Amino acid sequence: MSLLRSDFRLEPSSCYVDARCPRYKAVVQAEVDLSPLLPYLNAATRVVYYDPEEPVLIFRLGPHKVAVRRNSVQIADLSDLEEGRQAKKEVEDLLEDIFRRKDEIEPRFEPRRLPPALEIYRFLPQTNCGLCGEPSCLALAAKLSSAEAELEACRPLYEEPAFSEKRRLLEDLLKN
Ligand code: SF4
Repeated sequence: MSLLRSDFRLEPSSCYVDARCPRYKAVVQAEVDLSPLLPYLNAATRVVYYDPEEPVLIFRLGPHKVAVRRNSVQIADLSDLEEGRQAKKEVEDLLEDIFRRKDEIEPRFEPRRLPPALEIYRFLPQTNCGLCGEPSCLALAAKLSSAEAELEACRPLYEEPAFSEKRRLLEDLLKN
C-alpha cells in the first residue's frame, strides 16, 4: 500500500535571508489519513515540532524539514525538481518503514517543540569562537533550534570544565 501519491508539486519558498535562493518546497498529497502515524514519527524521527491537536509533526531528514499533516506532506529546503524527487522518495521510504514497524515502536503522544534559539543561546559559551563552523554562538543556537546541528558541534562545551554545567542544562533542554 502506498501512503503518498506518486505525483507532487513544487512551490517557491520565501527565502529572503537565504543565500541559496531560490528555494522550493514539495507538496505531496497522502493516499491515506496519516494522522495515526504521527505518534510513531514522534518517537522515531528528529522532531522539531509536534502538535497532536492540529495535527502536525515537523521533523528533520538530512538537509530537509518535513511537515506531515493528515492529508499531505511538505518537504522544504529544496533547490530544484530533481532534489524534490529524491527527497520525496526518502520521505516516502521512511514513512513506509515506520508504518511497517509500528508494532516495534513505542508511540509518543505528547506535544514536542525544540526550544527557541535565544533560550539555547543563553547557555552557550557566547564567545563566538567559530569552532563549530558557525560565525557566532547565536547562529549555532538557531540551527540547534531547528534540529539542523548537533550540540556536540560546540567543542568548548565539552572540552572546557567551566562550561560543563551549561552543557548539562543544554542537553536537558534539547532532549525534549
Ligand atoms: S563553538 Fe560554541 S562557543 Fe564557539 S561559536 Fe560555536 S557555539 Fe559559540
